[in-house]
Amino acid sequence: MPKIPRVYKTVALVLRQRRLGDVDKILTLYTAQHGKLEVVAKGVRKTRSRLAGHVEPLTQATFLLAKGKSLDVVTQVETVESFQQVRDDLDRLSRALYCAELLEKFTEPREEQFALYRLLVDTLRRLAVRADVDTPVRFYEMSLLDALGYRPELEACVTCRRRLDPVTNYWSPAGGGVVCAACRVEELAVRPLSPNGVKLLRLLLHGRFDDVARVSIDPALADELERALGEYVRWTLERDVRAAAFVDAVRARRLRPRVASGGAAVLS
Ligand SMILES: [Zn+2]
Repeated sequence: MPKIPRVYKTVALVLRQRRLGDVDKILTLYTAQHGKLEVVAKGVRKTRSRLAGHVEPLTQATFLLAKGKSLDVVTQVETVESFQQVRDDLDRLSRALYCAELLEKFTEPREEQFALYRLLVDTLRRLAVRADVDTPVRFYEMSLLDALGYRPELEACVTCRRRLDPVTNYWSPAGGGVVCAACRVEELAVRPLSPNGVKLLRLLLHGRFDDVARVSIDPALADELERALGEYVRWTLERDVRAAAFVDAVRARRLRPRVASGGAAVLS
């Protein structure tokens, strides 16, 4: 592996930031060349900081980083893509923060995986422009699980290994995929999975995003996929994803229209 110079440049996505002392912040970056990194942005909470506008979560930026004793330090940063359309809309923002949190939780520091960087950039671009903000997230979840070696078994029953029939089967995150009706009695914590659910999961795993985007997914099927992949993600991570609660809250708001004085229903 080449030695990293004292000051080095990398393009990165800001996954998260947290306060450090009175004026600094620790940023969690996912870099194109070095995987996940925690770095210090000094003075970024001062009003006249030159860095402040470039280090918000979900920003794609070019960073100049100086090697530090423990954490490296941001010396310069320039925004490449701010994903403003994502920030301006709670539906888009909640999904994007969920995707960023998954990458943060699923990866170890300094393990370069350019494909994951690319995947999150592509997903943020899709979230910025598409009316349907859930399909990009399902594609992202499945692609991430696959790239990290957690590909679910979708062709054969994980218990008896028989090929799945196109009937209602069952989803078992603990088992690592789908179980057939005959085997489900032996599996705890399984939920029914429709034939279309299995088909869509296969398409998410093997297809390109454009293939998935062409399929019309009704709300019941979208819900089935979200629950299945969400449970799989939680099981694999062995913990909750904070931003999943944010996605739920944003969606609940949308489903509870408030009646304005003029009589028209508006979103609260
Ligand atoms: Zn079976």
